[in-house]
Amino acid sequence: MTAVVWIRRSLREYDNTALVEASKEHEELIPFYVVDDDYFSNAELGYPRVKFWHDSLVELKEGMKEEGKDLIVRKGRPIEQLKNIVEETDPDEVYYNRDYSPYSKKRDSRAEEELEVPVNSFKDIVMFEKEEILTNSGTPYKVYSYYAKKWFDKKKRRPGKPEDYTVPELGSDEIPSVNDLGYEKPEEMNWYWNPGREGGKKRLEEFKDKIWNYDENRDYAWKDSTSKLSPHLKFGTVSIREVFWEAERIKARKPDMDAEGIKTWQEELAWRDFYFQVMWNFPYCVEKPFLEQYEDLEWRSKEEASEEWERFIEGRTGYPFVDAGMRQLKEEGWMHNRLRMVVTSFACKDLWLDWKDIHSYFKRMFVDAELSAMIGGIQWAYSIGTDAQPYFRVFNPRSQSESYDPDGEYIREYVPELEDVPDKYIHNPQKMPKTAQHDADCIVGEDYPEPIVDHDDCRKEAVSRFEKVREDEDD
Ligand SMILES: Cc1cc2nc3c(=O)[nH]c(=O)nc-3n(C[C@H](O)[C@H](O)[C@H](O)COP(=O)(O)OP(=O)(O)OC[C@H]3O[C@@H](n4cnc5c(N)ncnc54)[C@H](O)[C@@H]3O)c2cc1C
Repeated sequence: MTAVVWIRRSLREYDNTALVEASKEHEELIPFYVVDDDYFSNAELGYPRVKFWHDSLVELKEGMKEEGKDLIVRKGRPIEQLKNIVEETDPDEVYYNRDYSPYSKKRDSRAEEELEVPVNSFKDIVMFEKEEILTNSGTPYKVYSYYAKKWFDKKKRRPGKPEDYTVPELGSDEIPSVNDLGYEKPEEMNWYWNPGREGGKKRLEEFKDKIWNYDENRDYAWKDSTSKLSPHLKFGTVSIREVFWEAERIKARKPDMDAEGIKTWQEELAWRDFYFQVMWNFPYCVEKPFLEQYEDLEWRSKEEASEEWERFIEGRTGYPFVDAGMRQLKEEGWMHNRLRMVVTSFACKDLWLDWKDIHSYFKRMFVDAELSAMIGGIQWAYSIGTDAQPYFRVFNPRSQSESYDPDGEYIREYVPELEDVPDKYIHNPQKMPKTAQHDADCIVGEDYPEPIVDHDDCRKEAVSRFEKVREDEDD
């Protein structure tokens, strides 16, 4: 009995549901991966994501080979290659883990229709999917807090290991290098990510001490207190069940400790599931605002606002916290959650930039770019999403940094020209008297820019634009 296990984004053997389930029924498995060249040339990808994916895939294949198995890799279109492997190996069944983006849904339903063997799909990348958690009246949740309560109450599966299996000898294409796929490491990038299963396990291990104080520390970017597991969860080098239950184990080992940090961290995992179910149940939100009333808002495209766009993405807005966030992204392919909220809010309420341009840019820049969470996060900050920030609550970029980076540690790390600016001016260096500017070796207008816009004016303007659309709706 042979089965093909079509591996996509769960780049691990441990607790890979399709693999685990297939190994229960079949002694011989064909772990199968298709590198879709078209995807690499058409999708909006960037070096960080491609590099993380590539290194994780290579590690998976090498790890399997060391165990006397293999990951059979083929290049081409997924459905065609699946048909080929089915023809070549005559399996009894095909197994795969479900995915929830519109692109994956389409591809997977084609596979189910066109393959001439039984195809079995499994829930793997989330704890709860699709319509597993519904309101009491049977509709999908649009508000996180009620969803989360049920998420926590619901019984959760534990991780599992595949049973022993063998892999037949089959031809496998070479995994193309990152460069072959057309991606190069940007000069300014400091690549510190450790992709693959080993890297994921290490990251989880390192986070174990931090998790206890996650609730108190997570908002302070300079504390580096979050798990940084997002790319590992994205590419499935760790599983959602594994990290959830590991957190439970940490709690169980010290039953007398206050476990608020652990609960708060698990709430983030519930946010992840929440946005996946939003994307599944309301797929239009990938293209349009979840709150359809805001479809008529007229944003400025990056071409229209080209100067502001450039200054924004380069981290030269004159708002130190925003600039630090945007530069962290360029350097690391990652940005702290507080900053993701602050910069995206700034793009909306201060610069009035089109959220779709922000989405395209983020997709190319983030190592952890995850469609559901990214759309959720952007539309939250733009006040157009599910359970979003109300349009009249506008983040003030200076008070955000006063609250979450009081001594400017984070700012100084990513905006080196502000390194010697005295604490009292770090959130607003433009207020420095001339002598202080000389002492800090930071001349405003030369070394560091004047603010790109006046925040108060922009806030009022943005609120009135939202109100105008709401009034038009009411007419
Ligand atoms: C504008 C914007 C864009 C975002 N884009 C993404 C994205 O592309 N990919 C992504 O994984 N997250 C995204 N997030 C959510 C969040 O910022 C990141 O998940 C988090 O910063 C990742 O760091 P971490 O792994 O240290 O998170 P931790 O704080 O350690 O959280 C643990 C895990 O929970 C999940 N998680 C945490 N916060 C959220 C959230 N708000 N929504 C959904 N899942 C969450 C992630 O998988 C994360 O790894 C975005 C948020 C905003 C505001």
